[in-house]
Amino acid sequence: MLAPQLPPQRDQIPEKNKNSPLLYQAGVFVIIVVLTLVVFNAWQIWNAHQRNLQIAGNDSENLARSLAQHAEDTFALVNNNLIDLSERIETDGLGEPQRLRLQKVMQIQASNFPQLYGSVVFDAQGNWILTSNGKPLSHANNADRAYFKYHLTHNKNTVYIGKVIRSRSTGDLIIPISRRLSHADGSFAGVVMATLYVDYFREFYNTFALNNNASLSLLLADGTILYRRPYNEDAIGTNICHSILFQEILPHSPFGNVTLVSQFDNVERVYGYSQVERYPLVIAAGLSKKDILADWRNDASLFAVGGGVLLSILLALGFVLIRQINHSVQTEVELTRTRDKLTQMNHTLEELALLDSLTGLANRRQFDIALKNEMTRAARNDRSIALLMLDIDYFKQFNDIYGHVAGDQCLQQLGRMLQSMVNRPGDLMARYGGEELAIILPDTDLQGAIAFAERVLEGIRQLKIVHIGSPLGIITASIGASAKVPHQYNDTPLSLVNLADNALYTAKKGGKNRVCSL
Ligand code: GH3
Ligand code: MG
Ligand code: MG
Repeated sequence: MLAPQLPPQRDQIPEKNKNSPLLYQAGVFVIIVVLTLVVFNAWQIWNAHQRNLQIAGNDSENLARSLAQHAEDTFALVNNNLIDLSERIETDGLGEPQRLRLQKVMQIQASNFPQLYGSVVFDAQGNWILTSNGKPLSHANNADRAYFKYHLTHNKNTVYIGKVIRSRSTGDLIIPISRRLSHADGSFAGVVMATLYVDYFREFYNTFALNNNASLSLLLADGTILYRRPYNEDAIGTNICHSILFQEILPHSPFGNVTLVSQFDNVERVYGYSQVERYPLVIAAGLSKKDILADWRNDASLFAVGGGVLLSILLALGFVLIRQINHSVQTEVELTRTRDKLTQMNHTLEELALLDSLTGLANRRQFDIALKNEMTRAARNDRSIALLMLDIDYFKQFNDIYGHVAGDQCLQQLGRMLQSMVNRPGDLMARYGGEELAIILPDTDLQGAIAFAERVLEGIRQLKIVHIGSPLGIITASIGASAKVPHQYNDTPLSLVNLADNALYTAKKGGKNRVCSL
């Protein structure tokens, strides 16, 4: 008999569409696009930031190295003048004619070299002997000056660059550069000194077009500031030997660039630094990080705002897309659910159309269809098909004695029993009409059909349904069996039914509770 396939139950249908692959893919797509945009934007901004700092590092380093070269050239010129003077003094002495000549040389040097404030020759006691400007000699004694003390105690033929001092004669800020004068036996003979205007560096450093927050510093190798732009008199002479630049960086590399916070004004700068090769001098050129990144900051804000707008549009579009997909998936789920409901209803209708409501067996309609199909198949395959027609014995009396309800229950019991005997897919138990049942047995010959019929009758007897109106005291039935290898055109379903019906008639005539065949 037909076993209708049940559609999935309501709770088997996914309630939500969150597991929909399309929705998932759309979500992943939106996330990937958004992440790509964010990462790409962030990378661009970061890259520009690093590039700006790198360029500033190179610029500041180049500037520092140029200033170092300038400082070296400037101090080399002064040093050469001093070497010239000391050589003359040590060779020719300081007699009156020599002094006149020296005076002249010093005047020429000063006039050829405007950044030179002047030069002085001191004797071993620190007294002024000669000056380049030819003015009356100062009666001051310079034995207390640091450069004088240095040369007094250091028997070295090297140049000494001192801290910035204020000229005792004019009040100008000057940088003293000096050399020792020695007698032939090497003993201290005095000092020859030239001084450079600090203003010379001030003017030169001011020629660079730099932002206000930039700084340019000329320092002694011990960390003492000789000049610093922006100009601040208090900074001059300050020692920054404890700074990171002097403690950690310069000892390892003579030039380069580094980002530091200034201890003067707490401004973070990208510093280019360079030692001056032949003199104990250091140059530091700092470009304010804030200034360096000002343009970048504007660009990055624009980029971020643009990216943000794009991101919002993308998110909105993604949201619309996902909602749209969500909507269609939901519609699809609803459609599937409706379709399943319809399928279920169809099955139910089919069942109702093909099943007998009392016994649950196939109804007459299904029997007719099945018999026709099985006959055709048997004819095609040249196989035998059997039909059993079953009629309950003395059933009218059963109804009369026990009532119609009991009669119906008896029919239901028989129906269940018969259904349980189906062991091949093609076998069909049907209610033919009234208390007559029909059994189609495909691929079965007459012998097999009779054997099956006997088992059915035995099964009915074993139900032991009491029927005092029957001679045996229980419900029994009679079966007419027919079987044949049908011919495609000659043998109709009706012919097989008639054959079984006639056999049933014979069984009834023969005393009931038996199987007969013709
Ligand atoms: P026989 O042994 O010769 O078959 O005698 P019988 O009394 O069974 O006679 P018949 O086969 O003519 O029986 C027909 C009776 O079956 C009539 C009716 O009382 C009973 N019957 C037919 N259909 C139903 C049904 O659906 N329910 C009930 N309760 N009884 C039915
Ligand atoms: Mg009958
Ligand atoms: Mg009967």
